Amino acid sequence: MECKDRNCPFHGNLKTRGRIFKGVVVSDKMRKTVVVKRDLLEYIPKYERYAKKSSKISAHNPPCINAKTGDTVKIAECRPISKTKSFVVIEVI
Ligand SMILES: [Zn+2]
Repeated sequence: MECKDRNCPFHGNLKTRGRIFKGVVVSDKMRKTVVVKRDLLEYIPKYERYAKKSSKISAHNPPCINAKTGDTVKIAECRPISKTKSFVVIEVI
């Protein structure tokens, strides 16, 4: 399938810069957008222990990558694509 998405980092003209995260896709219900969940360990000095935290990031899902719920993906920061999207899926791991 040919990719005609201009917001695709490989076939369009979207440049990625900034941070790169790994996470798991928890929702693929939106068109060309996935929600990626990141698990984090945060150190709490008061208890000298780590607490589990997670964050959700919406990321652009170009048709040539087509990540589905349950996939582990790599996402890269890019310019804001919409109000909540400033990351793009670059790889399914
Ligand atoms: Zn593409």
